[in-house]
Amino acid sequence: MSRDSNCIFCKIIAGQIPSRKVYEDEEIYAFHDINPWAPIHFLVIPKVHILSLAHIEPEHQAMMGRLMQCIPQLAQQEGCNPYPEGGFRVVTNTGKEGGQEVHHLHFHVTGGPRPWLRG
Ligand code: 5GP
Ligand code: ZN
Repeated sequence: MSRDSNCIFCKIIAGQIPSRKVYEDEEIYAFHDINPWAPIHFLVIPKVHILSLAHIEPEHQAMMGRLMQCIPQLAQQEGCNPYPEGGFRVVTNTGKEGGQEVHHLHFHVTGGPRPWLRG
C-alpha cells in the first residue's frame, strides 16, 4: 500500500495518530473530523495516498466507486436523517484555490439538523 510517511492521514490510517473510526475495510478508512462544521462530520479517505481528486488514475476507479457507495450507508449509520427531509453533504476540496489543507484525498460528509458552522 502506497503511503507517505509525512502525511497526517496516512499516519491516521496506520494508527500512529489516534482517530475516532467510523468505518474501515481493505481500501477505505472513515473517521470523525477533529474540527466539525456540522452536527455530523466525518471524512472518508482511500488508504492509498492519493494527493487530491486531481490525481485520480484509471486504476483507482473500482476503489472510488466503492468509496462513493459507502457514503450513504455511513451517513445513515452516523445519524444523518433520511432523504429527502434529512440527507447529507459531500465536499472534496482540491488544491489551494479549492481550499484543500490536507493533501491526501478526502471526502467531507456533513449532516444533521441545521444551522451548521459551515457549508
Ligand atoms: P481540507 O481543508 O483539506 O479539505 O480538510 C482537512 C480536514 O481534516 C479539516 O476539516 C480538519 O479539521 C481535518 N483534520 C486535520 N487534521 C486532523 C487530525 O489529525 N484528525 C482528524 N480527525 N481530522 C483532522
Ligand atoms: Zn497520505
